[in-house]
This record gives sequence, structure tokens and C-alpha cells, in this order.
Amino acid sequence: MLRIGLVMLQGARHVHMSALQRAAEECGIEISLHELRMASDLVDADLHAMVLPGGESTTMRLTGNHETSGLLPAVFDWIRSDPSRPVLGTCAGAILLSDPQDGGEPLIPASIGRNAYGSQVDSFQDELYSEMLGRDFPGVFIRAPRFDSIDDSAEVAATHDGEVVGIKHANRLALTFHPELSADTGFHRWLIEAAEEAAA
Ligand code: GLN
Repeated sequence: MLRIGLVMLQGARHVHMSALQRAAEECGIEISLHELRMASDLVDADLHAMVLPGGESTTMRLTGNHETSGLLPAVFDWIRSDPSRPVLGTCAGAILLSDPQDGGEPLIPASIGRNAYGSQVDSFQDELYSEMLGRDFPGVFIRAPRFDSIDDSAEVAATHDGEVVGIKHANRLALTFHPELSADTGFHRWLIEAAEEAAA
């Protein structure tokens, strides 16, 4: 049974859970989901993989760095200590990966600009192409960030009109859109399959 953790600080958490359950059924792999709110949840869970959902990164930083939680520093340590640990960061999750603000190296080799398409009214949905999945993918962008610069060491995971909207580095995947809001579970399946491979 693969143990997958979800950072439950704020935002799009529950939809990720159902996307993971659907993806697990599709790949025929058993998973258990672990809700992470405090640093101790991460220690107890002994995870194989992790999701950092979208939401409001400023709120996540406040809650997750608060002394009653301590989750964010623990999450960054968990990710940093082994690049083969599969991690999916979407939207605000991608912001946290590129800019952990903990004095350490970024967790993905890219810089990112918040709310870079404009405000809530500039949220949109459009077809993108995923180089990683090898097919079109429905892109849901909600007050989405945009990559400003991407190191050559990153693999392109998805593009929208030629602009990179998803990158992969080691087993870390950062997407500026919300894959959990579409019927295509491709990126969630990747996380589960990568976790199975890393656990083997
Ligand atoms: N605008 C949010 C931020 O800057 C990200 C939006 C999202 O995760 N949907 O944190």
C-alpha cells in the first residue's frame, strides 16, 4: 500500500484526494491518503509521495510556518532530503516549491511570478499540451502563477500556446494549473506510478 500525503494547510485539497483515488483505481495500485497539518503528521505517515495543492500561498506560509503547525519546514526537509521522492505541486504548491523562503535552495530549478495573468477574473480554462503525458490536457488556471525563468536542467512537462506551464525535475513536478479539476488523471497517475517505482 502506497502512502501519499496531502499538505492540508489551505486550498484545493479534497479534489486532489478524489483525483488520487480515481488515478489509483485506474492504475490498479492501492494507496492510502494522509492529511498533513502538523510536522508530526509527516513523521507518523512515513510517506512514499506528496501533493502540495493550490490555494493561497501567503496563507499557506502563515499557517504552515506557525509554531503550532511547523508543517512547511518539515515538508521542505522531507522533499530536500531525497530528490527521488515523488512530489506534485500545483499552482500555489508550485510557488512554494520554487520559492520555499526557508533560506535553502529552491526545490525546483525555476523562478515563478504570482498572480501573473491578473486577478480572479483573469482565471481561465484552455487546452494545453503535456509533453510529459504526450497528449493534450485540459488546463484550469486560477489566479495562476507564471514561470519567469527555468533552468535548462528542468524537463518541460506542459505548455500552453508554447509557454511552459509545467516542469519536472528529478521526481518533482510543478504545474501552474489545477490538474485535479479535470477528468484526466494523468499527472496523479504519474505520482502514484513514480511512488511505486521509488518504493520498489
Ligand atoms: N494566487 C495564488 C497564490 O499566489 C495561487 C492560486 C492557486 O493556487 N490557484 O498563492
